[in-house]
Amino acid sequence: MSKKSLPVEGITSDRIFAAMETIKQKDIRWGEGRAFSLVFKGDKEMDEVIRRASQMFFSENGLNPSAFPSLKQFENEVVAMMVNLLNGGDIGCGSMTSGGTESILMAVKAAREWGKKNKPGHTRYKIIVPLSVHPAFDKAAHYFELDLVKAPLGTDYRVDLAALEKLIDDRTVLIVGSAPQYPQGVVDPISAMGQLAKKHNTLLHVDGCVGGVLLPFFKMIGADVPDFDFSVEGVTSISADLHKYGYAAKGASVVLFKNKELRRHSYFASTDWPGGMYASPSVLGTRAGGPIAAAWAIMNYLGIEGYTKVATSIKNTVDEFKARIDKQVGVKLAVNPDMSVMCLVGEGVDIYKVGDGMTNRGWHLDRQQNPSGLHLTVTYAHAEIIDQFFADLEISVAEAGNFGAKLSGVKTGIAKGFIKAMPKGVVGKLVAREGKNFGKDLESDGPKNTAAMYGMMEALPGKGDLDGLVLDVLDGLFTLQKPLDLTETKS
Ligand SMILES: *Cc1c(COP(=O)(O)O)cnc(C)c1O
Repeated sequence: MSKKSLPVEGITSDRIFAAMETIKQKDIRWGEGRAFSLVFKGDKEMDEVIRRASQMFFSENGLNPSAFPSLKQFENEVVAMMVNLLNGGDIGCGSMTSGGTESILMAVKAAREWGKKNKPGHTRYKIIVPLSVHPAFDKAAHYFELDLVKAPLGTDYRVDLAALEKLIDDRTVLIVGSAPQYPQGVVDPISAMGQLAKKHNTLLHVDGCVGGVLLPFFKMIGADVPDFDFSVEGVTSISADLHKYGYAAKGASVVLFKNKELRRHSYFASTDWPGGMYASPSVLGTRAGGPIAAAWAIMNYLGIEGYTKVATSIKNTVDEFKARIDKQVGVKLAVNPDMSVMCLVGEGVDIYKVGDGMTNRGWHLDRQQNPSGLHLTVTYAHAEIIDQFFADLEISVAEAGNFGAKLSGVKTGIAKGFIKAMPKGVVGKLVAREGKNFGKDLESDGPKNTAAMYGMMEALPGKGDLDGLVLDVLDGLFTLQKPLDLTETKS
């Protein structure tokens, strides 16, 4: 029998919420600016606006826009505002989706359908992405049965154009650039990619999931932002997440197309269902009204003025981070970022050990690979924590310098593997598989020792092996260990 079944009798809401409050204490402390990914926190008023709008449209369903003219109106306005912001002109259009991944899925699906029409005669189409591109493109290729080929990066972490061009063939329907790419925060050479796309008759998607809303405002306040939107010739679609730097509620993104013909390729219709005619623009069927309403509300609440203010604060924080990192021995930025996401690497110090030190001090920094690094997404919430962060960084770097002795015998070095947001599980699996003293050392050091974990991964034979391991971990994560105790009452 499964470890949890429906309670026979319903439980009082007091007990339910007490249990939820208790378990919530274990979550990362994003509200205090401790997280550098996953949560984009605005100020109190912004928070109130999205909460109120979400709640107001909590029950409404975006599946059928004619039943909810309200949501249809919000959605069309949100898309129109984004088309304007990204210079899509009069013919630019798009759809609202639940997030960056869904936006990317729709752009890739549209490219495949475009290929069937415009490059007929192939059984499988190909898309070319930079090595740095978000895994949502791998996911899209996997779901939609396309071949995905990765182009290498130059020394500046932007895609290597010459290498990219060599990969283009007559099955290629889409090339992708990011604005900026997530790992090191630089914008790919979109203008040059536009020329390549035109020369070889392919579509060009710009992944502006993280930068689509913020880059235009960085530009407005005088930052040196390369062109990346529909003003660039050859750009045919853009994804931009509202639930990141748009400060909307989670579950809100847009996928924009250069024109309606392209957008049509992302749509889906089924007309013979006994339940009636069915058509939908994106992956989801039922769509929560809350995120649509909240996105519309916050965009109107902030406006150009509000977003400029937020962007100014973020840019000041980014500049301060850069200056302080510059002064800190033992670490540096992999490359000067174009926006507000960046990669911290070690200089004579194992950066993963620095990361472990930061984790022990309550900071949540994602680990990266090739190069080994720590990821920072600087947001509005980080203006307040700069001093504390750099004080802790200094201690963590100093500690990492002396850490080697403790881990002697454990193979550390450049990691071949990277598991986002699940290092604890991976350590457990590695320990179980290795079952040697090697593993025991790790266990006694506790699950926060990712430095050793990344070292161990190097010892794994191949990538397939690592994929399997990661999926094992996923299985483990999504297996219920122990149901929550619902007997406690509110204190
Ligand atoms: C976040 C992100 C995505 C994926 O967005 P989700 O909302 O997590 O699905 C895609 N590309 C980039 C560059 C991102 O930062």
